Amino acid sequence: SISYLNGEYQPLSEARISPLDRGFLFGDGIYEVIPYYNGKSVGLMPHIERMINGLAAIEIKCTKTADEWKALLDDLVARNSDLAANLGVYVHISRGTDVKRYHAYPENVEPTVFAFTFPIKDPEPVDRAKVTQYSMISTEDLRWQRCHIKSTALLGNVIHFQEGYSSGNDEALLYNADGELTEGSSCNAFIVKDGVVITPIQDNQILPGITRRIILDSLRADGSLKVEERVVTMDEVRNADELWITSSSKEIAPVTQLDGKPVGNGEVGEVWEKAFQIYTDTKYDF
Ligand code: PMP
Repeated sequence: SISYLNGEYQPLSEARISPLDRGFLFGDGIYEVIPYYNGKSVGLMPHIERMINGLAAIEIKCTKTADEWKALLDDLVARNSDLAANLGVYVHISRGTDVKRYHAYPENVEPTVFAFTFPIKDPEPVDRAKVTQYSMISTEDLRWQRCHIKSTALLGNVIHFQEGYSSGNDEALLYNADGELTEGSSCNAFIVKDGVVITPIQDNQILPGITRRIILDSLRADGSLKVEERVVTMDEVRNADELWITSSSKEIAPVTQLDGKPVGNGEVGEVWEKAFQIYTDTKYDF
């Protein structure tokens, strides 16, 4: 596949970054993953806006405008369109390569901008009987206090994901020291109770997920389901009728097992099917 690195296009296997790059040494950077289905992106501008906000939050000076980012990413996808019908684009901006290893932000260092594409699966069918079901474990969220920044320093998330994976599950569902739901190790989380769709509020404990945003906006615009953003306790999660996890690669994935017990009646819920239909009908508008 063709990758982009600091203005140059080259085969991914040939792209080279210095070991003194602060992304490598400190995880000092941010990233995005944007899905394109048959060349059509989902949430491209919201992803770019989150990236620009993230760069500002950690004082990485990258002068590209939102329109320039859009042109760059659309172009990279076009260059790789022979690889697969559906592509994810990974974009990574680190603070850049310094001449020494030193914690303080260096002056006069250009950020490293790297992007590549990879094949992604077709969207899941909007069908309760056919969709892939997920199983999770729950565990205390031991990441950091700045989870709203999409940092490339993902070790906290990786350890939690591995807890889920090594116990034979697909993901780990995280809760804070007060027993309140935060998110998954690589996804946001929603519950459904008595027909109401509920998700934790957006604060420093969770990533401002673009899929989360699209779901909330499209469900509110549609109006047929009630939606709440509020504190969600793990007791509520354990008594929920449905549990979903959301991300750009999973879209809205139904979770039917949590800590080895069925979620609700253990089957994919009817609210999932309604919400996923609404999301599927509107996702390319974002
Ligand atoms: N939370 C975390 C910790 C994530 O890593 C991700 C996606 N990688 C998400 C939530 C979902 O974000 P998005 O919908 O923008 O992909």
